[in-house]
Amino acid sequence: MNNELLTFARNHVWHPYDSLKDPIPALDVVRAAGTTLYLSDGRELTDGMSGWWSVCHGYGHPVIISEMEKQLRRMSHVMFAGLIHEPAAEVARRLSAMTPQGLSDVFFADSGSVAVEIALKMAVQYQESRMPSRKRFLTVRGGYHGDTLGAMSVTDPGNGFSGSLGWYIPEQIFISRPGIPFGAPWDAGAMDELHEALERYQDEIAGFILEPVMQGAGGMYFYHPEYLRAARKLTRDYDVIFICDEIATGFGRTGEMFACDYAGISPDIMTLGKGLTGGMISLSAVLTGDKIREGVHRSSARALMHGPTFMANPLAVSAALGSLKALESYDWRARVHHIEEILKRELAPLAASPLVRETRVLGAVGAVEMRQPVHTAAMQAFLTGEGVWLRPFGNIVYIYPPFVITDEDLLRCVRSVEKLISGMEKGVIRGFRE
Ligand SMILES: *Cc1c(COP(=O)(O)O)cnc(C)c1O
Repeated sequence: MNNELLTFARNHVWHPYDSLKDPIPALDVVRAAGTTLYLSDGRELTDGMSGWWSVCHGYGHPVIISEMEKQLRRMSHVMFAGLIHEPAAEVARRLSAMTPQGLSDVFFADSGSVAVEIALKMAVQYQESRMPSRKRFLTVRGGYHGDTLGAMSVTDPGNGFSGSLGWYIPEQIFISRPGIPFGAPWDAGAMDELHEALERYQDEIAGFILEPVMQGAGGMYFYHPEYLRAARKLTRDYDVIFICDEIATGFGRTGEMFACDYAGISPDIMTLGKGLTGGMISLSAVLTGDKIREGVHRSSARALMHGPTFMANPLAVSAALGSLKALESYDWRARVHHIEEILKRELAPLAASPLVRETRVLGAVGAVEMRQPVHTAAMQAFLTGEGVWLRPFGNIVYIYPPFVITDEDLLRCVRSVEKLISGMEKGVIRGFRE
């Protein structure tokens, strides 16, 4: 774009969580294809972030484009109250078939955060006819569920996503995050705190929500799937609605189609987003089954109190249809395991650095946890110079590539992280916050 327009944008268009006085200068991107972002100044960057965890099959996947093009010409939008269309019906049927057993029903919404709001409403409306005092939520520390108020209320306030808005957000009940990491030996004592919280707050808790196996924005932490199995049993014993937020983990990211599959469990409600459309356009889905359907029907409203304007938008659901077809068109599981092997092999040696606390890899996610909070702008300036698009946050430098990334591009991401850390060790890059 021309300089005048770029200057206007830099002064007046807000970016996520960025300083309004001294923002990180946004780069002018003109095109994206495969795993590459093309900037207006001619630079090309390998996208190791999958467009914020969504573009799992790469940019511009032909199957997704073809579904959307067909739909665009036919009908890009109609209201969903009183109308149904084939792409919505087809995506709903496919989602209920591919998700764990019992998740027969689908509610489409606009974004991940909104899906979480809907899941919370479902749980509260379910409890209304059974025990109306159950209106609060139980969750674990280290979680992230989105930026709308209900979603913020179950996001760990310590994660830095709520700033000074705490007073504005409903107060929920937090317990420690699942303590046993993925791959470590299981210990049944790890469930004591959840059990105690359910016992103590059983008259107040409508539901228990968490991200299965991988806590994403809370720091790329992977925990033992046995926690989910035990939590499934405990929540059933207390008739507390079990909500698994698969917005980041869904569609293969952790190496299984859904992270719940690691535990072989089915939650009462599952939220999906991000990779649902292969990152083409915003769409989310809330899956649930008989129990919630009947419970919500017994509530005084007799229907779920939610109905977005763009519910099941035909263009968006056709993108989801394309993305589900794309997922079937290649061996995503083999791709994710291949990426996992490379990331494990290449990131492990970085743990020897005095600046690094730990490295962690699961599926197509590789994280380097630093010992101090990182300086995102300084790191990003270095990394773009190396030809990669990575956006470190908190204490975490991480690689979250599209499944279709080539080894060469993946290794470019890894090498630039290595160079970043060695540059910091030598003092030539100031990668930590002052
Ligand atoms: C990204 C994310 C959300 C929020 O999704 P948006 O589409 O950004 O609103 C919710 N839950 C989890 C686990 C996420 O990673």
